[in-house]
Amino acid sequence: MTGTRLPPPTYPALSYELYPPRNGPAEESLWTTIRRLEDTRPDFVSVTYGAAGSNRETAIHLLKRLLTETTLKPLAHLTCVGSSRAELTEIVERLLGGGVRGILALRGDAPEGIEPRPGDVEHADELVRLIRDVESQRTAQLAAGRVSVGVAAYATRHPDSPSLEQDIEVLLAKEDAGADFAITQVFFQPSDYARLVDRAARAGVSIPIIPGVMPMTSTRRLEKLSGLAGVDVDEALRARLEGARADEDRRRIGVAATVELARAALDDGAPGIHLYTFNEHAAALDVIDALDLERPPQAGLAASL
Ligand code: FAD
Repeated sequence: MTGTRLPPPTYPALSYELYPPRNGPAEESLWTTIRRLEDTRPDFVSVTYGAAGSNRETAIHLLKRLLTETTLKPLAHLTCVGSSRAELTEIVERLLGGGVRGILALRGDAPEGIEPRPGDVEHADELVRLIRDVESQRTAQLAAGRVSVGVAAYATRHPDSPSLEQDIEVLLAKEDAGADFAITQVFFQPSDYARLVDRAARAGVSIPIIPGVMPMTSTRRLEKLSGLAGVDVDEALRARLEGARADEDRRRIGVAATVELARAALDDGAPGIHLYTFNEHAAALDVIDALDLERPPQAGLAASL
């Protein structure tokens, strides 16, 4: 062995969620955001995937550009609802063949009229297994780095779950299936994250659970989120946003609330922070500035080798 031994990284993980743009102008604006976020040297950026593969090609196009035109490492979301096993296998093979090394395995929410067919992958734990199966067929090609598989976790009850206990059992099942880490759905109270981590640890979950936080800079965003994710709106935050006079004030309120949540989660031992950006950089950068997170000296760790 040569060289000096590296100290383990002590900085928290930093990541952003992006969604594939819907048209040309949205793509242009997203790329301004990507370049601004790249300057903060995140550990990865995640790219969402429409349920039933509705935006598959735009998602793949974005992943490809991230891999070839930036220093960023993409985490590809993949949903199983509405896709057959053969389709899922094909997309995982395509992702791995194209150089993607991180996949967030999700169920997704079935669009109206889509019912599972016999043999379909119905839950995220089965999708984790499918990804691991594909990976095991490619061990030689992956000699320089296996695939990291993430899953969703819920700090407040998932709308389809009867209880928080079931959410924890499901998280444990996902870890048992081969998940390496989890990212939480948006939450609003610091105690929600602390409770999730505590219950998960007591149930035997050992994978890191990264808190997902979203700067709520308008009441419209708050309501949209509630509709999309089935998360109850934080009424105190809504009242503060409604009472604000200008967009600038709303941005300050949303950023301050997110910084408070993220700080509390980091104080509770969170391994990092995942920021839902809505493809906008301004509020995300305000949060990162205020958090003053320690980052590696240059993009990735290669510079410190
Ligand atoms: P699952 O883990 O399958 O859980 C879904 C429900 O089924 C839960 O109520 C659970 O308790 C229950 N359940 C789970 N396993 C079993 C089982 N074996 N038997 C019986 N019941 C079970 N959606 C998108 O469409 N695209 C995205 O890109 C996307 N990205 C996301 C990123 C993050 C970080 C998060 C937190 C969510 C994201 N979502 C996305 C939303 C997600 O798809 C929904 O929350 C969906 O309703 C559940 O997905 P899941 O992976 O948690 O499903």
